[in-house]
Amino acid sequence: MLIVPEAMIASLVTPEDAFDAVKASFAAMARGDAYNFPVVREALGEGRQYGFKSGLDRAGAQLGVKAGGYFPGNAAKGLINHQSSVFLFDPETGRPVAMVGGNLLTALRTAAASAIAIDRLARPEAEVLGIVGAGHQAGFQLRAAARVRRFRRVIAWNLHPEMLPKLGAVAAELGLPFEAVPLERMREADVIVTITSSPAASLMAAHVAPGTHLSCMGTDTRGKQEVEPALVASASVFTDEVAQSVSIGEAQHAVGAGLLDASAIVPLGDVLIGRHPGRGNAEEITLYDGTGVGLQDLAVAAVAVARARERGLGIDVGV
Ligand code: NAD
Repeated sequence: MLIVPEAMIASLVTPEDAFDAVKASFAAMARGDAYNFPVVREALGEGRQYGFKSGLDRAGAQLGVKAGGYFPGNAAKGLINHQSSVFLFDPETGRPVAMVGGNLLTALRTAAASAIAIDRLARPEAEVLGIVGAGHQAGFQLRAAARVRRFRRVIAWNLHPEMLPKLGAVAAELGLPFEAVPLERMREADVIVTITSSPAASLMAAHVAPGTHLSCMGTDTRGKQEVEPALVASASVFTDEVAQSVSIGEAQHAVGAGLLDASAIVPLGDVLIGRHPGRGNAEEITLYDGTGVGLQDLAVAAVAVARARERGLGIDVGV
């Protein structure tokens, strides 16, 4: 068994690798070659969440689990709030193959999933990127989105405005003008990424212009919410995994309120393999409900392990 520690990941897996690996896992899911197992997610108290995301990709020969969660007290200790590790197993024998640090991989795969949705669903001429949220994930989201559209500027809102300058620095690095705005000004955005840990909707239907694409990435647990259910119901909704979208994703609220039928939610993989056309017209609001699936974690962890083996890196404990 190879151990690939967190500190090694940045030198092994690029955002481009994550984009390709996550795209392949979306397609494998849509073809029925891969599936996610039910998510286990437990509240540990004091806002801490812990759980397991797992799955099997027969085509990619990947079996495994990501164990981890969200620990809001970490930032004060100089740690990131998300902590996770990915364990890969041989799908034929069940023997352990690798243990891989999952923190950077989670950020890369989440940003990649959002960018794949933007790439496939946003209007091609999108110029203004809006971001709701400015925590650890937000910078990764901004970088990944900037790879798939030629944005001319970035506008952002965060409940805690003191966090926005860090996101502004990422925009500056990308050469993009950055402005902190009230939520009402999100109507200027062609693409909006929401990436907060909010328990109640911040972004309302009145804040979003026709034709916008939304990647809603923050809601990955029952009880979290970023977007007004009426906005979700008015949009064409896409997701990574419908079962997760209706139970732990942003759509849980619109579906629970009877405003949206689960059968109307389209797996993004269907768009990638040409089974669904994606955006229908320039006025439509498209919304990607990114809940984060185990197969995405396995896909990027497998890249890390392959690269580490190629380069003779990692710690082989010989199990
Ligand atoms: P973080 O703790 O670094 O930042 C939290 C963000 O949420 C900050 O912008 C903060 O200002 C904002 N926030 C906190 N309370 C809020 C409230 N009541 N209303 C509005 N905004 C509020 O977290 P992070 O690592 O950036 O993660 C952000 C969210 O994304 C979390 O909910 C996390 O679980 C989720 N996430 C989802 C996936 C996925 O695959 N979908 C993957 C990773 C993280």
